[in-house]
Amino acid sequence: MPDRSESESRKLLRRLRDTLAEPGQGQERLDRIVGLIADSMGTEVCSVYLFRDPGTLELCATRGLRAEAVHRTRLRLGEGLVGRVARTRRPVNVANAPAERGFRYLPETGEEIYSSFLGVPIQRLGECRGVLVVQSKAARGFSEDEVYGVEVVAMVLAEMAELGAFAGESEALRRPHQNPVTFRGATGQEGAAEGRVWLHEPRVVVTNPVADDPLAEVERLRAAVARLRDAVDDLLVAADTGDKEQAAVLEAYRMFARSRGWSRRMEENITLGLSAEAAVEKEQSEARARLEHVPDPYLRDRLHDLDDLSNRLLRILTGQGRDALDRMPGDPILVARNIGPAELLDYGRRLRGVVLEEGAVGSHAAIVARALAIPLVIHAQRITTEAMKGDAILVDGDQGIVHLRPEETVAAAFRDKMAMQAEAQERYASLRTLPAAARCGTTVALHMNAGLMADLPSLESSGAEGVGLFRTELQFLIRASMPKRAELAAIYGRVMDAAHGRRVVFRTLDIGSDKVLPFMKRPDEPNPAMGWRAIRVGLDKPGVLRMQLQALIRGAAGRPLAVMFPFVAIPGEFAAARAALLREIDREAGLGHVLPATVAIGVMLETPALAFAPRDFFAGADFVSIGGNDLKQFFFAADRENERVRRRYDTLDVAFLALVEHIVGRCAETGTPLSFCGEDAGRPLEAVALAAMGLRSLSMRPASIGPVKHVIRAVDLGEVRAEVAAARAAGAPSARPAVTRLVAALAPG
Ligand code: PEP
Ligand code: MG
Repeated sequence: MPDRSESESRKLLRRLRDTLAEPGQGQERLDRIVGLIADSMGTEVCSVYLFRDPGTLELCATRGLRAEAVHRTRLRLGEGLVGRVARTRRPVNVANAPAERGFRYLPETGEEIYSSFLGVPIQRLGECRGVLVVQSKAARGFSEDEVYGVEVVAMVLAEMAELGAFAGESEALRRPHQNPVTFRGATGQEGAAEGRVWLHEPRVVVTNPVADDPLAEVERLRAAVARLRDAVDDLLVAADTGDKEQAAVLEAYRMFARSRGWSRRMEENITLGLSAEAAVEKEQSEARARLEHVPDPYLRDRLHDLDDLSNRLLRILTGQGRDALDRMPGDPILVARNIGPAELLDYGRRLRGVVLEEGAVGSHAAIVARALAIPLVIHAQRITTEAMKGDAILVDGDQGIVHLRPEETVAAAFRDKMAMQAEAQERYASLRTLPAAARCGTTVALHMNAGLMADLPSLESSGAEGVGLFRTELQFLIRASMPKRAELAAIYGRVMDAAHGRRVVFRTLDIGSDKVLPFMKRPDEPNPAMGWRAIRVGLDKPGVLRMQLQALIRGAAGRPLAVMFPFVAIPGEFAAARAALLREIDREAGLGHVLPATVAIGVMLETPALAFAPRDFFAGADFVSIGGNDLKQFFFAADRENERVRRRYDTLDVAFLALVEHIVGRCAETGTPLSFCGEDAGRPLEAVALAAMGLRSLSMRPASIGPVKHVIRAVDLGEVRAEVAAARAAGAPSARPAVTRLVAALAPG
């Protein structure tokens, strides 16, 4: 790096820092800053553009352009060269700007006489605050060192903005973390919540972005990197499970921690005048900016690793750790980029809501949030950079919308909605002990879905008749290692204890597809949902299935046991699974263990093929439960995890209802009890339609039992059936309009 950049850059950064200490409003500071930068760079022009709102940049200070353009010149994101820098978050460096494609001529600025242009984003941790521009008359490109130097300056400006240095009378200069922001994400779990932000990973505050003594800063950085490397080595030893693939991933993580390039770049940042913390953040910002442009999931994971390492390094350097949970507010809404299921369980029911930047509907965190009945919004992009601890926040899990620091009018409307929901809940609570008896006299048994011990108190509060689906894989998903048989037997026993004699249907492990065990090798499959999952794994590698069946038999300890096998596609799979259970019962008997009082062996109908299996299959199953989530996904060939298609096809489509009716008929032929345990069972309209098709048992989330019961009690199932038949006869593609009209008239609200 040439001398000029090093010493000049350091001098400049120190001067910038000094402006922080001087008195004055934000605008005065900015004016001083653009002057300092122009002098130091030897350019005629230096300007700062800041975001006025997420789509508009405003010229906020300039040396060299016309003063009257300040706060008047505005550009949309992507417009002109400045807008391009902000959109791509990459520098633009051109010798002849007016000739450049996309150049936008702004007559009020008088910039047409300046030929060369260098614009760099003012960004911090991937969040772009604005653009710093230097321009000069001479048509020359800026050298790589100069670009780097300006980037370092922009970094310091971003830190200063974060510290509120530019707060003043101008709207555009307000600290970004004070404005209301709305995030449109996706629903992870329905429900509404109001509360205060609790950051899972609180942001590290860098109070001094400028190095006073670069040598000392480099030493600090080196010491911190050494500590980080030791910590990562320890982590690797602790996480060693013998799994080769996992080891490879962790090895890549270690490689990053040891990367010379990473350390060198950070040290260069210090040489140019940044403090150790600011140097780490600069690299982190760039990794985040790159992350947004990398489609390859493997590379994205690696960039996440780098981000994670940077966070650790910042915590070592600043001594700032995670916030102690005992300081959590009374109404916490957890905001995180992503969170593991075990970490979410640690927070437990204390949380009012959860908002994630990433996540998927079927992710482990989503499963846990659902089990805890906590409203969850996923894909709330950039919320971790916007939200500050303690900010007011509203989570609308129904719509997938989050309001951060909401205006009072928005908050008031939101509270009205919550009050209405609470009123409805009260109404449902009064139905708790009443049966779901329709006006025609038919009663539908309502059961609940569960998977964690945390679900079980809902058995009492919801009025469920039992657990229609216990997803056993959740106990595996929340652990870092394979649970032991005795441990599982104890859990299953406790589940039955908590059910107080009500029936609990245990579904054997359904892993693969969206549910990947952290400690098991994941096969590389092009279509995991249609791949090696659930009973297919259980039959091919029977060790885990056998262990689980033994744990179930022991957990029952003389009580009735109900087991069902997931994702069966052909009768032979069910026969093999059933035989495996019977073998284990014999074996347990041989070992002298107490056997369950009765054993019911059922099957989940989740593939269209099984609906057309021979009669003997239905006759041989003790019960059948329709897994509507998967059945619908395969019937319509629409991935249940894919936001683009998952809502495209409807349960009340006459074709799907015909399939359900067909299954009802098949089970009726052999007198095989039938239930439905997909998400649709918990949606009132869908539940009524399913009951009208002949289902007499539904299993759903506990929170849905009240609303479903309310609607079933209001309708005559014969009338609903007649509406569906009429829609079919009329050639309508969907029964939804007709059923909606009927239900709205009979069960308003
Ligand atoms: C289903 O597929 O409907 C079901 C209940 O199983 P899961 O959602 O766990 O796949
Ligand atoms: Mg399923």
